[in-house]
Amino acid sequence: MRRKLAAGNWKMNGTGAALAELAALAESHSAPAADILVCPPATLLSRAAEAARGIAIGGQDCHAKASGAHTGDLSAAMLKDAGASAVILGHSERRADHGETDAQVCAKAEAAMAEGLTAVICIGETLAERETGNTLKVAGTQLAGSVPANATGANTVIAYEPVWAIGTGKVPTLEQIAEVHDFLRAELTARFGAGTADSIRLLYGGSVKPSNAAEIFAVSNVDGALVGGASLKAADFSPIITALE
Ligand code: PEP
Repeated sequence: MRRKLAAGNWKMNGTGAALAELAALAESHSAPAADILVCPPATLLSRAAEAARGIAIGGQDCHAKASGAHTGDLSAAMLKDAGASAVILGHSERRADHGETDAQVCAKAEAAMAEGLTAVICIGETLAERETGNTLKVAGTQLAGSVPANATGANTVIAYEPVWAIGTGKVPTLEQIAEVHDFLRAELTARFGAGTADSIRLLYGGSVKPSNAAEIFAVSNVDGALVGGASLKAADFSPIITALE
């Protein structure tokens, strides 16, 4: 049985004052029936880990190497040292802004796993890819290329995030979400076997809000959500978590 997961991606938002939102979230969900993960900017990781009280804290990226001449980058060990237990990898904004490839995402995931971090690996099609009927092809290629061979339910979470749904208010139909999530589960089963595949959580991400969370969470093979904008305020993220519990 997969435990549900509500993951928040604060992206490049938040200074110290934002930690009050995390504290409020922790207070409202002191004994949650679902896992909660908040991924603030790296500058807040240590303080977030102190304020989190039961909520897991994650990074938004890490370097594939353990150390060295990589100005501005952070290693998985540094994230862990700052209090992270997970890291988002291959978000479409990083794939677009930094040209990250599936192979690079896979290498980062291996580095994260080697440090004991859970890799939250993001995949998803652009609007052009959906409109040309390539959604499953893209999802399958990204999944195969971005997920390391040693993936397990403990070290890996997959987030299906259609690029066109991120931050736009546009959401796929429930049938479209089900089609991709069922496909991803089948692909994982073919590669890793049913035992491992059934233990890996599949999150949906893209304009999840309090008003649409419950219906999305009822979709087959949706084990939770990766939430951007609506994770910034406890008043928005809290009802999403409640919908998952
Ligand atoms: C995201 O950035 O991962 C995301 C899903 O953003 P939003 O919820 O704002 O669409």
